[in-house]
Amino acid sequence: MNDCIFCKIAKREIPADVVFEDDNVLAFRDIHPQAPVHVLLIPRKHLVPTKGLAAEDARVVADIFQAAREVAEKEGVFESGYRLIANTGPDAGQEVEHLHFHLLGGKKLGALVPLQLN
Ligand code: AMP
Repeated sequence: MNDCIFCKIAKREIPADVVFEDDNVLAFRDIHPQAPVHVLLIPRKHLVPTKGLAAEDARVVADIFQAAREVAEKEGVFESGYRLIANTGPDAGQEVEHLHFHLLGGKKLGALVPLQLN
């Protein structure tokens, strides 16, 4: 996708603070961190979950979860715990359509949905 910011990060066309990469997955620090550890994990391939994932793309989701474990260990939050979430659609506040998971940790994260938003 030509205008996708995460594709540009995956191709290293724009800078990012990369903490993990392999052939299929890239992980980099969120530019607006919401926790002491806030890393985004993306497939290198432009996948849009709201459009559905093909069976051939299912493997990369497993790869992302494996990468998340490695990132959590590297960032020192594997033992203390972390949250892995994917915002989907307007009510979730999704900004970028390219499939991505937020890995958040390094503090008590509290309620999944803040009470004031209910
Ligand atoms: P979402 O709201 O789930 O779509 O999350 C998109 C996330 O991408 C937000 O937390 C943004 O802060 C983050 N983000 C946007 N642009 C960049 C960038 N260039 N580098 C790192 N993180 C970014």
